[in-house]
Order: sequence, then C-alpha cells, then structure tokens
Amino acid sequence: MLSEKNLIRVREGNRKPVLDEGECIFYWIRANRRLAWNHSLDYSIHLAKKFKKPLVIFESVMMDFEWSSPRLHQFLLEGICDTSADAEKSGFVYWPFVETKEHSLSEIIPNILEKASIVITDDFPCFFLPEHAEKLAERLNCKLLLVDSNSITPLASYEKSFGYARVLRPKLHDRFVESYVCRSNPKPNSKGIPNSNTLKKPNFLFSGKKEDISSYLQRMSSKFPEILPVPGRLGGRKESLKLFKKFLKEGLPFYSEERSEPRPPERIKSSYLSPYLHFGMISVEEIVTSVLESDPKITWSPDILNHSYRGKNEGFFHPSPNINSFLDELLTWRELGYLLFYKDPSFRKDLSILPNWARLSLEAHRGDKREYIYTKEEFEKALTHDPIWNAAQKELVLTGTIQNYLRMLWGKKVIEWSPSPEEAFRTLEDLNHKYAYDGRDPNSYTGILWCFGAFDRPWSPERAVFGNIRYMSSDSTSKKFKLKPYLEYIRSLEGMSELPFFK
Ligand SMILES: Cc1cc2nc3c(=O)[nH]c(=O)nc-3n(C[C@H](O)[C@H](O)[C@H](O)COP(=O)(O)OP(=O)(O)OC[C@H]3O[C@@H](n4cnc5c(N)ncnc54)[C@H](O)[C@@H]3O)c2cc1C
Repeated sequence: MLSEKNLIRVREGNRKPVLDEGECIFYWIRANRRLAWNHSLDYSIHLAKKFKKPLVIFESVMMDFEWSSPRLHQFLLEGICDTSADAEKSGFVYWPFVETKEHSLSEIIPNILEKASIVITDDFPCFFLPEHAEKLAERLNCKLLLVDSNSITPLASYEKSFGYARVLRPKLHDRFVESYVCRSNPKPNSKGIPNSNTLKKPNFLFSGKKEDISSYLQRMSSKFPEILPVPGRLGGRKESLKLFKKFLKEGLPFYSEERSEPRPPERIKSSYLSPYLHFGMISVEEIVTSVLESDPKITWSPDILNHSYRGKNEGFFHPSPNINSFLDELLTWRELGYLLFYKDPSFRKDLSILPNWARLSLEAHRGDKREYIYTKEEFEKALTHDPIWNAAQKELVLTGTIQNYLRMLWGKKVIEWSPSPEEAFRTLEDLNHKYAYDGRDPNSYTGILWCFGAFDRPWSPERAVFGNIRYMSSDSTSKKFKLKPYLEYIRSLEGMSELPFFK
C-alpha cells in the first residue's frame, strides 16, 4: 500500500495530461538503480494498478556524459545485470538500454515514449539530471512525474536548504519517525499489475548478461577512455549488499572511534558504500533499517529514539555511539548536500554558495604568497612535494576512492597550492569527478566546498591563503594517525598500476 504521506515525494515535471490512449505506465530509472526500497517504483506500481495499464521499467546508461569513462560505464553495466536478474525474479517488465556508437538514446527513445500514459522518473537534483528531466518534460506528450527517493526524509518536507548541519539535524530528527514508518517497499513485485503481452519490446536493448559487458564497453565512447575499471571493484546491487553486510559486522562496531583512520582497505572501518549510494544501487532506507536492527541486545522500534538528544549528533537514534555516529553521516551530512541541490537543482554548486565570512576571508588572502604552486596536471600526476598528499591522490586515481580524512586534507592542500580559490575549485571538481566512483554527487560539492569553509565556522588564528578557513596539515595528520601501513598499501598499488604516470 502506498502511504498518502509519501505523496510529498512526487512533483509534476510538466503540466501535460495523463494520456488515456497510452499503452503503459513508464518508469525511467535515471538515478535509483534498484527495484527494492525505491519510492519511484512504488509510485509507478500504484499508478499502473490505478490506471489499469502495464508497467514498463526502463533503465538507460548514457555514453558521453561529463567525466564518463570505462570505469564508470562498467560499474553501471554491472548494476544493470543485477537489476535485470531482480526484475526477472519479481516478474517486472524491464528494458535496459545502453548507448553505443551504433545506437544512441535519442534514436530509440521517441518510439518508446510514445507508448506512455505517464512517465515517472527519479528526482535526482544534481549533475546533468535536472536539465535532462526538464528536456524530457518538454518533449513528452504526456505527464512527467518526478519522485524523490534520495534519502529517508522527503526533501520536499523541508522549507529550505541549510548552511549548517546543526540547523538541519533537529529538523531531520523531528521528521524521522514518520519517514521511518513510511519507508519504501523492500520487496516490490508485479502482482496485480495488468499484463504486458501486447507491448512490443524495442530493438537494441542490453541483454543484462554479465558476459556481454565487455563487448558493450568496446562499443561505447567516453570522455576519458584511459580511465579503466579498478580490478576487483564491482558495481551493482549484489556487491553493495555484500559490502554492507561486511560493514555491519566488521566496521560499524568500531565506527565512531576508527572511521577516520587512513588504513589499507581490509582494515578500514567506514562502509565504502558511497559509490553505491550515489548510483542508487542501495538505498538509505534499507541501510538505516538494518543498522538500527543490528544490535542483538536491543529490539529497535521508534520508541527507542531518545528525544532528549534531539538535534545532537549523539544519543538520538540508539544507545550505541557507533550507530549514532554512522547515522549522523548517512542522514545529516548526506542530506545537507541533497537538500542544497533539491531546493535549487543544478549541475553544480560553486564558491558562490560560501558563507560571507569564508568569501571575505578568501578575498582578503587572494594575493598571499603561496609557498608551492602546482598546475592541475601536476596535481593529477601526484607530483607535489608532499608524500601524504601524493598517496591520497594515487589512491583516488588507482582505486576510484579516497579515504574520508585524507579527502579533507587532499582538498585543503589544493587550495593552499593553487594560484586562486577558483582554480583550486576547478581542479578539485575535475579530479574528484573524473576518478571517484562516488563523484558527480551533491556530496561531491558539499565535500569540496566544505574545504573552502561551507557548512563550517571561522577558525583562529588567521593564516596566509586560508584566512579564517579551517586549516589542515600533513604534519598533524601524520602525528594523529599511524600512516605507515596506508602508505605501504599505496606503494603496492603503484607497482600494479597500468597508468604510465605513476610508474
Ligand atoms: C573534498 C571532498 C570531496 C568529497 N566528494 C564526495 C563525493 O564525490 N561523493 C560522496 O558521496 N561524498 C564525498 N565526500 C564526502 C565523504 O568523503 C564521503 O561521503 C565518504 O568518505 C564516503 O565513504 P564511505 O562510504 O566509506 O562513508 P561512511 O563513513 O561509511 O558513511 C556512510 C555514508 O554516509 C555519507 N557520508 C559520510 N560522510 C559524509 C560527509 N562528510 N558528507 C556527506 N555525506 C557523507 C556517504 O553517503 C557515505 O557513503 C567528499 C568529501 C570531501 C572532503
């Protein structure tokens, strides 16, 4: 049953009619690349039953999007294979399409869309997706509906976005119980949806079989063909669930104390889930549910919430500090970024969103002498004087991921060693999006802009280049953590690298 409370997640993309003569309800997966725990699918099922029409689930992978590479393409295609298997199991009509040099999306999509009574799609507020949704809304003859399944609380329930985690946190806590009760369906199925026998399957669909991935990759073009998939890093829902299970057992019990430690991956205590969250292969709602139920000593229900900790980053969700600390990252910090974009959807956010104090600080120190200055190419090739920074950059390039604490240091140092804040921003955006599996996300921008003072407060003493923006140094990082095993791990990766510039 669809909860009325979830209607707040649905917004109209255009003012066009529901077409009676349309043959189907059409759900276009553009961001929530999964069937389970997906409000967009739940709403599509509801409409299919209401209008007594078959439901088609269509998923596309575009080829030449900004920062596209075989690394990202393969991750997406692996995701499609999992969704394809899930659709078959639960009896859904699922049409995956992967763009190749022979067949573009614009070639096949007009015929498919003609059949629709209503088109439903995911309301992802960042990167090329808002503009894509606008164009789709114009092009369609029928109604377009966008559904927000980005997090656990509906983003439309907030009146605005917030500049500080401490301001969002109490509001998120206030919405938590209702949102928790109205979570999406963990096991959607096609029971009760009218038969789709009369629908003609379009040509050139992707088989959804793993063995066809490499031939597709060869037929796809991309902006960065040299950025190859990372060996052993799999995309898709199955892999996300496997990693999550491992995290529940080996990471979560140590999260609050050890999450920040840069270590080799087998000893890392954070979840590694950000790429899967970014591509919607796993949902925030299912993570929250399992995390809250993970302590065998406590049967969790909303009664366990401790309202005397409303607005605090500890104590609210659960007696366990690890669970609270993890949920504060997954909910408060993640939602801060999604809200920023949802309230003003756009491709990117830049330095113009900084609070006044940070902008003034950067301006006052614009002319300061930089001890080191590097070009984007020197940063990219990890050619700085600083071995810790170089190691973080190599981790990013070689593994598509970058450990959270070092990611902050990585961003801060690019500001310190660039000729201007604007150039530092461009370098960070480009390197993050080009190499990181989780890039091109609202939290890419909140993370990068945090380095410039967004969502933070002024710090003393005032320093060269940074002014009052929080400063981080490699020296204090190496005093805070035992970095030797991490640095050795990075050196071992370099030996295996196929990229000539790290040899
Ligand atoms: C310069 C810079 C760039 C960043 N770029 C990205 C990016 O491109 N994509 C991205 O998802 N995150 C980005 N972050 C935020 C953060 O680094 C990652 O979300 C986190 O490291 C992901 O690792 P994990 O999945 O193991 O996190 P966990 O610690 O296991 O956390 C679980 C989830 O909570 C969310 N989360 C955790 N920390 C943060 C945070 N600080 N801000 C927002 N959400 C958070 C993520 O969705 C994450 O997957 C960036 C941070 C900085 C400083």
